[in-house]
Amino acid sequence: MRDAWRDPVQLCRALSLPARLEPAARQAARLFPLFAPREYVARMRPGDPLDPLLRQVLPLAQELEPAPGYSTDPVGDRAATRQPGLLQKYDSRVLLLLTGACAVHCRYCFRRHFPYSQTPHGLEAWEGALDQIAADRSIDEVILSGGDPLTLADSQLAELARQLAAIPHLRRLRIHTRLPVMIPARVNASLLGWLTATRLTPLVVIHANHPQEIDDAVATALGRLVDRGIVLLNQSVLLAGVNDQLEVLVELSRRLVDLRVMPYYLHQLDRVSGAAHFEVPLARGVQLIQQMRRQLPGYAVPRYVRERAGAPSKEPLY
Ligand code: SF4
Repeated sequence: MRDAWRDPVQLCRALSLPARLEPAARQAARLFPLFAPREYVARMRPGDPLDPLLRQVLPLAQELEPAPGYSTDPVGDRAATRQPGLLQKYDSRVLLLLTGACAVHCRYCFRRHFPYSQTPHGLEAWEGALDQIAADRSIDEVILSGGDPLTLADSQLAELARQLAAIPHLRRLRIHTRLPVMIPARVNASLLGWLTATRLTPLVVIHANHPQEIDDAVATALGRLVDRGIVLLNQSVLLAGVNDQLEVLVELSRRLVDLRVMPYYLHQLDRVSGAAHFEVPLARGVQLIQQMRRQLPGYAVPRYVRERAGAPSKEPLY
């Protein structure tokens, strides 16, 4: 992560992009900094401002335009907070927000305005959340989220997993992460070690939006997880100019399934301020899913869903 691109002007120049993109990129990055790992940028096409991977990370002028109906907390994270760092939106599952750090800054992120500085950091600080989980027998699954939980050290994560496994009513440990796609070397022996040592059933939900993201190194990293018996799911966000084309979504699903990763969700964009230019109309999303169903086996078609603040589950859109 130390080697990641952080300066939008340097990134534009390294990719031979038109200089006209630079002033707005600099300005938009002041609101939400650019952060893109070199491994990921290496999968982009130089000289192409419309590259689907680039679009996910390059700050653009459109982010600065006001958009009615878009907010800083589009899915009600604040209202779902049981205590700092512990969120509950749905029955039987809770989310631990362990860190604000990510392996990439996705321009459309629904938590791009989240006040991470107020969330507890470190094992001692998480004790209160763990006490709440231990006291609530209705919870059987903990989701490690953030930010990206795999930006933390394995020693810390292993200890957290040990403490969670000591809570008798917990059954599953789910991890939401973009790291295996961004920096596949993160799937190392020590991660696999603690993830497979816990008595909790581990599930890893990765986040890939486009087949171009999954190169050989990513495929190998995903294979290492699946080979160790870890259930792997993928969630994508439907993004204008990134994956709102049938061939792209079909190829993404095929690539994932070939790698034994199940396409889980295709999310309608959460209406977060600064991301309006990524929204795909609902009717187009429905049409894409209908067309995907004709080309793919049922298990390879993700569920097209939207998250609504305060709703008891994700809302299926088709
Ligand atoms: S990795 Fe996830 S949490 Fe981090 S910026 Fe991207 S979408 Fe947001």
